[in-house]
Amino acid sequence: MENIVDIQDKFDFVVIGAGSAGVRAARMAASMGQKTAVIERAALGGTCVNIGCVPKKLFVYASQFPKHFHHAKGYGWSYDEDSIIFNWQELVKHKNDEISRLNDIYAKILTDNHVTIYTGHASFVDKHHIRINHNDKNDIIIHADKILIATGCTPTRPSIKGAEYGMVSDDMFYLEKLPTSAIIVGGGYIACEFAAILNGMGVNVTLAHRSQILRNFDQESVACITKHMQQHGIIFKMPVNIIELQKTNNTITAVFDNGDVVTTDLVLFATGRHPYLDRLALNNADIKCNDKGYINVDENFATNQQHIFALGDVIGVPQLTPYAIRQAMVLTSRLFDDGHQKMAHEFLPTAIFTYPEFGTVGLSEEHARQYYGDDAIKTYKTSYRPMKHILGNDDDRIMMKLVCQGHEEKIIGAHIVGDNAAEMVQMLAISMGMGAHKSDIDATMALHPSNGEELVTLR
Ligand code: NDP
Repeated sequence: MENIVDIQDKFDFVVIGAGSAGVRAARMAASMGQKTAVIERAALGGTCVNIGCVPKKLFVYASQFPKHFHHAKGYGWSYDEDSIIFNWQELVKHKNDEISRLNDIYAKILTDNHVTIYTGHASFVDKHHIRINHNDKNDIIIHADKILIATGCTPTRPSIKGAEYGMVSDDMFYLEKLPTSAIIVGGGYIACEFAAILNGMGVNVTLAHRSQILRNFDQESVACITKHMQQHGIIFKMPVNIIELQKTNNTITAVFDNGDVVTTDLVLFATGRHPYLDRLALNNADIKCNDKGYINVDENFATNQQHIFALGDVIGVPQLTPYAIRQAMVLTSRLFDDGHQKMAHEFLPTAIFTYPEFGTVGLSEEHARQYYGDDAIKTYKTSYRPMKHILGNDDDRIMMKLVCQGHEEKIIGAHIVGDNAAEMVQMLAISMGMGAHKSDIDATMALHPSNGEELVTLR
């Protein structure tokens, strides 16, 4: 342990990492009268705002315009195909402007709440002192009564020969030019979303994966997404493992373990993420991680040091922004207020912004059957071509499924593939959280004409 001679400031609460969880925790703690600081090495807002959910959704919107243009013809619009030009650099510039605007809002939220913001790398000096290293400045050391680690996760690059020629999701938000072709390795959220984004923007996409995509989700819904993605031109290569990348000029050659050799402009590794603990020096505060490398916490988000806490992606799954924000509310409410905030684990809605979009909440049919037994589960489903697609000359269908349990048919899972699936699932999550049964859905008046009405008329 070093001899601490120059402590620059003392805080009640210091947060390491200004992502979704960290910013919320810092702001709440400060508003509850705690002298609070937050330390961030990069831009305020973390993964979600800068290199995740927000810019991804903007790219999703951009990628869907060709579909809208196609639909427009059936609705009487005509245009010269050659006049439709997509400018990737323009999109990235507008996206960057929007992210800067959000960074400023985050800074304002923190400063308005009197949170001190430090820019730099944090590392533990001991259990109560944190060193902040900023390249251009001298290191400073601050004292903290309580500390929160909310440093998130970072993409994992497989250890194969030539891995350095591949990109990870962080890079995709700053590509100088759109590739003509891309191989995406992986089959989770990020792989599927970028496959759909690039495909929508006209890139020839191959999705290469070692098992099946979206392995833990409702498999009938996943089959529906896969079929649509294939119809839109995405090539699925499964199951394969990538074993080597080679680079010649601007071309990358990918070698697979089934003997296939494919050349492409870009390879994206979307093969999971791992906790971002670089340079934190956790050992100086004797903080323990589990065997997967995530920080170990108890039900109160306390590490093995009772005054040091961790939450968000750095403690494991589920790695979703609203979940991390809720954790921050629960922690700060318990530490600095009356503890009334509680986690809601049961019905956590989520969406995968593929094309078509996939919204899901609760148990998949497979998990429900496994957990409750076949006899206790009844499903209600529909699949149809939505009204908009008929004039739009579009064969894409919508699929909806409710998974119900027991004689009373409590709704324990809802899965929707199609336009606005995320929006519909968000609303269903409210009723499911209130304990809705199929009979409650049946008793609801339909809103006509809409896609949502198909949910309340499921038989
Ligand atoms: P996921 O856990 O969703 O998927 C990881 C994928 O990587 C899986 O398909 C997995 O395959 C594969 N994989 C893991 N290790 C290897 C390996 N060594 N070689 C080949 N493939 C491998 O993680 P993502 O990184 O896509 O996303 C991280 C998290 O971020 C998500 O879990 C989600 O919580 C969040 N997120 C949420 C989004 C949203 O809300 N829309 C969008 C993006 C991310 P296998 O199934 O075989 O294990």
